[in-house]
Amino acid sequence: MRMANVIGHKQPKRILQNALAEGRVAHAYLFHGPEGVGKTTLAMAFANTLLCREGTGDACSGCSICRRFDKGRFPDFFLIEPQGNNIKIEQVRELQKTAAFKPYEASAKVYLISRAETMTRDAANCLLKILEDPPRDTIFLLTTVNPYNLLPTIVSRCQPVALGRVSQQEIEQLLRDCHRGDPDTATLLATLCNGLPGKAWAMAEPDKGLGTREIVFQLYEKVKKANISELIKQAEEFEKNKDIMPEVLEQLLLWYRDQLIWKETSDKGLIINVDKIEELKTDSEFRDKSYLIKSIRNILEAKMQINRNVNFRLIIEVLMLRLAGCA
Ligand SMILES: [Zn+2]
Repeated sequence: MRMANVIGHKQPKRILQNALAEGRVAHAYLFHGPEGVGKTTLAMAFANTLLCREGTGDACSGCSICRRFDKGRFPDFFLIEPQGNNIKIEQVRELQKTAAFKPYEASAKVYLISRAETMTRDAANCLLKILEDPPRDTIFLLTTVNPYNLLPTIVSRCQPVALGRVSQQEIEQLLRDCHRGDPDTATLLATLCNGLPGKAWAMAEPDKGLGTREIVFQLYEKVKKANISELIKQAEEFEKNKDIMPEVLEQLLLWYRDQLIWKETSDKGLIINVDKIEELKTDSEFRDKSYLIKSIRNILEAKMQINRNVNFRLIIEVLMLRLAGCA
């Protein structure tokens, strides 16, 4: 996997490649940024580049190391991921054992620890000991959504690599190049994913993101009809599928945002749900601005309350009644 094939992240890529060119690669890096931004993808490409026999500043894709790396079968590369919800002490002990040996074939061994914040306390303390006295010819690549969820002593031993959101055009191009849906779907997903290629990719899977979007628009129809018993039943359904709620609220928010923007500007270029423009025209006619602003506030409030683990069912019921104009 070549770094040149990873979309976005120009600056972080340049920093990593410069370190490589100048022979001052750190023994540990921490890739951080939002879920789906491409932390593991970039870390994998960097790992491949570090291991490649031929590459100058990027993996060559052709040497025997690169070919085995791409198939997930290169013995000097180790991927450590959560087992269940956590990275466990046993996994880090295993890492410690293998790190004591010389690289099998490449000039270094590379350990990619994905979602490092899921390490148990014991696992984190064990990794800290390893990072305090790193074995020779060993490079650690950690990824996390939020460095504050890691031990500060681990963070301070890693070079930070901050990843920001990727442009809509680049994501759209990626989806088109990989034939993920038709061109219209690619445009839509690129706008909906909010700069997160991983999210666009997941939404392109049948029955995933666009499935959630269908749920959102079904919900919106119920809100429009102000059918209270239907809305209460829907809240019950959501309680059984709590995991999808952050995504449902996010998309609902974008829909209300679109209605408000359309009402104020009638500018198609500013709309995210471009495929729903006809519905947008009709609906924003009969909505007044204060209702739309209030609804956006109510959705944002529900999002925050869910994060704080307040009574889930109650939050959703109240939100629906409010959107339907009944509370
Ligand atoms: Zn190579």
